[in-house]
Amino acid sequence: ATLTDLKWSKAACRFCGTGCSIMVATKAGRVVATHGDAKAEVNRGLNCIKGYFLSKIMYGQDRLTQPLLRKSGGSFDKEGDFEPVSWDEAFDIMAEKWKATLKEKGPEAIGMFGSGQWTVWEGYAAAKLMKAGFRSNNIDPNARHCMASAVAGFMRTFGIDEPMGCYDDFENADAFVLWGSNMSEMHPILWTRIADRRFSHPHVKVAVLSTFEHRSFDLADIPMVFTPHTDLVILNYIANYLIENDAVNYDFVSKHVNFKRGNTDIGYGLRPENPLEAAAANADKAGGAEPMSFEEFAEFVKPYTLEKAAEMSGVPANRLEELAKLYADPDIKVMSTWTMGVNQHTRGVWVNNMIYNIHLLTGKIATPGNSPFSLTGQPSACGTAREVGTFSHRLPADMVVNNPEHRAHAEEIWKLPEGTIPEKVGAHAVLQNRLLKDGKINCYWVQVNNNMQAAPNMMEEGLPGYRNPDNFIVVSDAYPTVTAQAADLILPTAMWVEKEGAYGNAERRTQFWHQMVDAPGESRSDLWQLVEFSKRFTVEDVWPQELIDKAPEMAGKTLYDILFANGEVDQFGLDETAEDYANAEADAFGFYIQKGLFEEYARFGRGHGHDLAPFDTYHEVRGLRWPVVDGQETRWRFKEGSDPYVTPGSDYEFYGHKDGKAVIFALPYEPPAESPDEEYPFWLSTGRVLEHWHSGSMTQRVPELYKAVPDALCYMHPDDAREAGLRRGSQVRVKSRRGEIITRVETRGRNKPPRGLVFVPWFDASQLINKVTLDATDPISKQTDFKKCAVKIEAV
Ligand code: SF4
Repeated sequence: ATLTDLKWSKAACRFCGTGCSIMVATKAGRVVATHGDAKAEVNRGLNCIKGYFLSKIMYGQDRLTQPLLRKSGGSFDKEGDFEPVSWDEAFDIMAEKWKATLKEKGPEAIGMFGSGQWTVWEGYAAAKLMKAGFRSNNIDPNARHCMASAVAGFMRTFGIDEPMGCYDDFENADAFVLWGSNMSEMHPILWTRIADRRFSHPHVKVAVLSTFEHRSFDLADIPMVFTPHTDLVILNYIANYLIENDAVNYDFVSKHVNFKRGNTDIGYGLRPENPLEAAAANADKAGGAEPMSFEEFAEFVKPYTLEKAAEMSGVPANRLEELAKLYADPDIKVMSTWTMGVNQHTRGVWVNNMIYNIHLLTGKIATPGNSPFSLTGQPSACGTAREVGTFSHRLPADMVVNNPEHRAHAEEIWKLPEGTIPEKVGAHAVLQNRLLKDGKINCYWVQVNNNMQAAPNMMEEGLPGYRNPDNFIVVSDAYPTVTAQAADLILPTAMWVEKEGAYGNAERRTQFWHQMVDAPGESRSDLWQLVEFSKRFTVEDVWPQELIDKAPEMAGKTLYDILFANGEVDQFGLDETAEDYANAEADAFGFYIQKGLFEEYARFGRGHGHDLAPFDTYHEVRGLRWPVVDGQETRWRFKEGSDPYVTPGSDYEFYGHKDGKAVIFALPYEPPAESPDEEYPFWLSTGRVLEHWHSGSMTQRVPELYKAVPDALCYMHPDDAREAGLRRGSQVRVKSRRGEIITRVETRGRNKPPRGLVFVPWFDASQLINKVTLDATDPISKQTDFKKCAVKIEAV
């Protein structure tokens, strides 16, 4: 091959929420090279190591190419071996199981689990099929494990989701504070922007807080290792410091902020005796809050003194004070960043709220460089998981299923009869696993995620539900992951540039790409699978007669007819020729239906603060940050002059809340759900590594990335290892009250835990650390705490 033989096109990176733009080279139907897109504002020609090897993720030797069904004696058998079947046979057995379950138990016995790796239209189609077609809100993304706490934090403080700032803040801030985030490994391209700013501007400071030392500490001017869960104390100390040192921006606070006392009677989200009853009882309790005055707030944080914060957190007092001064100095523009360390936390919503507290007290928000910035893990955690409404409580554009006006609005756009969308919030990720185990959800479809590796406490609360003989589990994936192997039916899936795509990154940037190559064998996109499956059901199969009576014209029609070949969705006509559009190779099915779905979806947000540009625009640009109004993207929301939604003359307007004000919450320190004790003396924290994307199902199949980090290790302090008679490389058992794994000790390298804490990455399917983790969740966001449980370490 010569370079001139290659055809180059742009795409968004398949991996993290940074949203780098990638140039992709194809030749003879294969992706043969990738490099960072020099025209992209996000990454300016750079990739991290995962991005460099994107061209290889589709070509693992065990790529799935045809549907596989567990069979024996020629028919389905849950205990049988996987045998190849046609798509028709696969959809036949799926439809048979779905119909029988709907008839016997109703829509609540159907469930679906997806992720922020769905493209925008795939997530939208899945949510529409589940919520309006099957009339079940039991659809959730694995974003629930990733940034549900960030979502609830935004909704409580601002009444609208997603960051007000953007990546331009990296070039404008004077200080960066990483709250439990290891950006050097998890958001490496954004880390290059921080490093560039730090090295080229000597006055810039970087503060890094974590429960163990990691690579981001290399750049830290103020390094802080704190005792797990005491971020709650540190944040209240900073609020107290600001008040006591006259660093509050009273003008800003009096005009733009309300104070509320958060409800603290919320528990730990551990498995109750009856998960369904408990979910109903707790539905509204967790989010409650009472108004309070500034003076009452000041009294509330007063006990969080420097001495108390230092003692509880273990961080030296001088470092905590240095940190507080960054926020207090009116001349220092501060960018706070966070991801899993804050969100995977039984009080994760509170920590989100409390970071906003200190930015709001100082008025350091929504201007260049003043930015509380919640980063995301998945490539379309924002664009898909959050914005199109794939959460069990959500509809598109921040609307929710338990609000009658929101349901009515969605039904109007979808041209469906009133009462189609059920009002009850569906089961979230952890509850879905509990209900599968209990036999309350019986038909379950997993797309774009590896739930058996990602879910907490998987041997007790994950696997039993998949292997429950009453359940039929379908997994769509490109590779035979541990989740696919636990299923009854595996559907082979097209990935990344094998289909038309769109992702939305952490700074509200929506990016598109065209299909560039064909998927192998019979693999099909998740969208194709959803749409084809919808053709197997008539409304009579799934809707009660009283609903059909409200729309007699729908009688006898299929879910495909009423959801995907109706109104907006087919406005572009499925028979138009692909030559009308820029990329003549685009698959006609994918191209036209995704355009229709996108334009229909965009109607939800236009005029409501979530405006998206017209579909075709996104193929011409390197993404745009919503709201896009009159062709202009928005860099800083809520600030006059930058955000077109702000009323002239108001300076700031937090228009997510009706009164235009943000909320500062009074929230206390509370202990974690499980702490080390005599029997289980170590904290366990889990997380990711630079070289592998989440569960490693793609990156472990790239030889270079596999060789770079072949397996997970148990990082521990050398003195802890010595005391236990262990050395670097010793085999150990990491054991909790729930399960155990065997791994090897690492006392050097990139992670340096303090005494009493071990860190184990979760990418390695051969060492499933989620056998060990605890399924405690934040009761508000329902997000799992993967950063804290108690374990013992034993020599093997
Ligand atoms: Fe950029 Fe993230 Fe992809 Fe790395 S993995 S190239 S940082 S989007």
